[in-house]
Amino acid sequence: MRRRQSACRRQVLWLANASRPSRHQGRLPALVKARANTRGTPCAPVLTVILRTRLRSRYPGPMPTFDVAVAGAGIIGSAVAHACARRGARVLLLDRDQPGAHASGGAAGMLTPSSEADAPGPFLDLARHSLSLWPALAAELLEESGVDPELVLDGVLRVAIDDGDLVRLKERCAWQQAAGLTCRRLDRAALTGSEPALASPLAAAAVYPDEGHVQSARAVQALVGAARRWGAEVQSGVEVVAVDPGGRVRLAGGGTVLAGAVVIAAGAWVSRLTALPVRPVRGQLIGVRGLPRLPRHVLVAGRRGYAVAKRDGLVLVGATEEDAGFDARVTVAATEALLQTGRRLLAGFADATLAHSWSGLRPRTPDALPVLGPLPGHPGPIPVLVAGAHFRNGVLLAPATAAGMADLALERRTPPDWAAFDPRRFS
Ligand SMILES: Cc1cc2nc3c(=O)[nH]c(=O)nc-3n(C[C@H](O)[C@H](O)[C@H](O)COP(=O)(O)OP(=O)(O)OC[C@H]3O[C@@H](n4cnc5c(N)ncnc54)[C@H](O)[C@@H]3O)c2cc1C
Repeated sequence: MRRRQSACRRQVLWLANASRPSRHQGRLPALVKARANTRGTPCAPVLTVILRTRLRSRYPGPMPTFDVAVAGAGIIGSAVAHACARRGARVLLLDRDQPGAHASGGAAGMLTPSSEADAPGPFLDLARHSLSLWPALAAELLEESGVDPELVLDGVLRVAIDDGDLVRLKERCAWQQAAGLTCRRLDRAALTGSEPALASPLAAAAVYPDEGHVQSARAVQALVGAARRWGAEVQSGVEVVAVDPGGRVRLAGGGTVLAGAVVIAAGAWVSRLTALPVRPVRGQLIGVRGLPRLPRHVLVAGRRGYAVAKRDGLVLVGATEEDAGFDARVTVAATEALLQTGRRLLAGFADATLAHSWSGLRPRTPDALPVLGPLPGHPGPIPVLVAGAHFRNGVLLAPATAAGMADLALERRTPPDWAAFDPRRFS
């Protein structure tokens, strides 16, 4: 407490010593941070008053009501809102529907950099960094919201079904080991021992012991609950219709919101609020109950599909990749294909109960990389940022995205190694 108070005192003196308001402008992010660090001490309200005075001199006209406004409460927007609120910012999180109503509410929740990156590079680095943040985030979320995102890190098993798969699996494991991933190959005998839920015969597999999954819907619920706990205001049924070049957020029905920074996290609908080429890719999955044995690992058969057992015993089998525009129906053809994937992967699948089917829209750019950073064409003093197009990996990438977007929104600091994700690559 004493350390926090002296940090506050230093900030107040530092601000009092600077004679012209213009000298304070570059220091706003430090001020936001100082307010967060002194939360709960008598100094925090003093810093809030100084911050509001500085903001008033910076933005002529009406005062920003929030430090950060986030459009879209999928896993990305919710994670950004949580990260910003946790750092002491006043956050407004808006969703046209409900938090987690779209892709994030039904995703398989797998955290598998090894399956999703096909080469070393910035995407693999981001994915590994984000995976490393999940354990601390999951613990924080449980404590702050009371909702357990059900993080499981029991490993991923990539199986080879035929000889072609086997060759690719060996090549993949070799470059991944060179890139620093833990990958161990298993022959048929070792495979049967380590994963009794597998249908036989499968040729071989590679195991990635550090990877796993969360329950995606619970993760969104936990993020929203924890963001609220840190003071964020969350509004459902509120549609953002535009963000002006100056940063003003326009709402359906005529309202507006002014914030110190705006983050567009509208998933497959990013292209409706920006000129960025983000399009929807439909994904369907099914869920079964009553298998004789639940898989211990996440089972991945390359792009053929995967199976993952959730804590409540539901085993998800996914997923299709379809170009169907904004049509998010569950279809008979996709269900048939997924049933076939399940039969190939899991022992006793034909006798299991079909308990679940779901479809969602993944947001994808032409290069399949996310867009993270300032939105082109918004030169005003209010940063307008986009956090989108996480395609097959929004759940995996949520923690790293949130930390980096909070740096950008509150401290105007771009995370190192984000050049490949810069939205300006499409301008
Ligand atoms: C079948 C399937 C399986 C998947 N499995 C995995 C997996 O195992 N691991 C993984 O990491 N990822 C997985 N994904 C991908 C993951 O679901 C997405 O990458 C992620 O959900 C994208 O999150 P988001 O927050 O950007 O988008 P969304 O979850 O779609 O959220 C966007 C939100 O923005 C709101 N919105 C849109 N427009 C507006 C507006 N104008 N105003 C206000 N609100 C607005 C929407 O209502 C929505 O709630 C899977 C996806 C599918 C379809």
